[in-house]
Amino acid sequence: MNAPVDVKAATDVFLSKTEGHLVSFLDACVHCGLCAEACHFHEATGDPRHTPAYKLFPLAKAHRNARFPWSLFTPKLTEADLSEWEELLFDSCTMCGRCTTICPMGIDIASIIGQARQAFVAAGLGPADLMQAAQNSKDHGSPLGLTPEKLRDRVEWLEDENETEMPIDKAGAEVMLTVSSVEAMKYPDSLAAMAKILNHAGISWTFSTKGYEATNFGYLAGRGDITKTMTMRLVEAAEELGIKTLIIPECGHAYGVLRWAGANTIGRPLPFEVRHITEYMADLKRAGKLKLTPFKTSMTYHDPCQISRRGGAADDARYLLEDFAEDFREMTPTGNYNWCCGGGGGVQAIGRAAELRHKVFRIKTAQTEATGADMLVSSCSNCRLTMDESKTALNWQGKLGSLVEIIADHLEGAED
Ligand code: SF4
Ligand code: SF4
Repeated sequence: MNAPVDVKAATDVFLSKTEGHLVSFLDACVHCGLCAEACHFHEATGDPRHTPAYKLFPLAKAHRNARFPWSLFTPKLTEADLSEWEELLFDSCTMCGRCTTICPMGIDIASIIGQARQAFVAAGLGPADLMQAAQNSKDHGSPLGLTPEKLRDRVEWLEDENETEMPIDKAGAEVMLTVSSVEAMKYPDSLAAMAKILNHAGISWTFSTKGYEATNFGYLAGRGDITKTMTMRLVEAAEELGIKTLIIPECGHAYGVLRWAGANTIGRPLPFEVRHITEYMADLKRAGKLKLTPFKTSMTYHDPCQISRRGGAADDARYLLEDFAEDFREMTPTGNYNWCCGGGGGVQAIGRAAELRHKVFRIKTAQTEATGADMLVSSCSNCRLTMDESKTALNWQGKLGSLVEIIADHLEGAED
């Protein structure tokens, strides 16, 4: 038998969130419905329940009931509301922010969803597999079980395989490189690729066994306590090493959670600069430290939402591809208006959402096929995993690639 849903706990969390700017977002919605056409879940299914504004209903209901408790038109939040909206807030929102680009009131639905998930967790709701990924991060250092010992083993193996230095816990390094456990466990060549690029550019860098996991499943799962734990691990490791710059690997949400929310999470400024690997590679190219041979395969680029639209690095990706990718073809729409892969915001980790993700991936296959390009490249391992799984499920024949890997394979002096 399922545990009872704690409506009061959820309401309390909702109301604690409506003290700040979130309440102005709720009040600002004019119910025009324009955001529907911006959401990939609505686009892929045509289901009106996937209209972004509709996903705000439980939070808005709790807020209005608290403000007008005497009104017959503002009923209390119920257990049935929470049970019904759980799937809409977890499985059907990747926090991609595309709806905000079209909303005439500029309502940041992605942020509201991120906060509202905490209320569902307080009520005892939330997909079990996503909750477990967050708990694994706290207990074992990573959602996929990448413990410090496993990181060390993997790095030693990659170092030998690739004949490139991959320092760990190196005192005096200027840059700390973090990893996404998706890369470490499923796409380990990405780790070696980042190492090759940093070594090629002569950067003094290191991994840390105290703070290595860039992904923050605490945030995605609505677990504020784990969000802080994961952020503090990176901060304390960086402080101990005295590094100046922390690089986030090919992961979208990891970047946003640390770069934009990190200081608020820990209650003080971050003691280092945060750069996504895409930004960092662009910095190296601007400084004349990234010498590449041409990439000849025809390719298109999938902008990860948290790196381009919500991260501001869409232009850096194009700058990297300029004079490098000889046959680069933009998909439509692209850049800050690109469609999400369907697996951000923790949706990739929710097993029951697989079919929905595959439907969304059809948008991406159509975009890619329209360019005629042979390879679909991304700079987020979560996008890559989402697309990889959907590619298999749909038997799509297109080829997937990683920006960091194609660049590492074309460093001047590197063998193809
Ligand atoms: S943030 Fe993205 S996934 Fe969530 S409602 Fe808006 S468009 Fe849809
Ligand atoms: S586009 Fe903005 S104002 Fe219109 S319904 Fe959606 S959230 Fe509300």
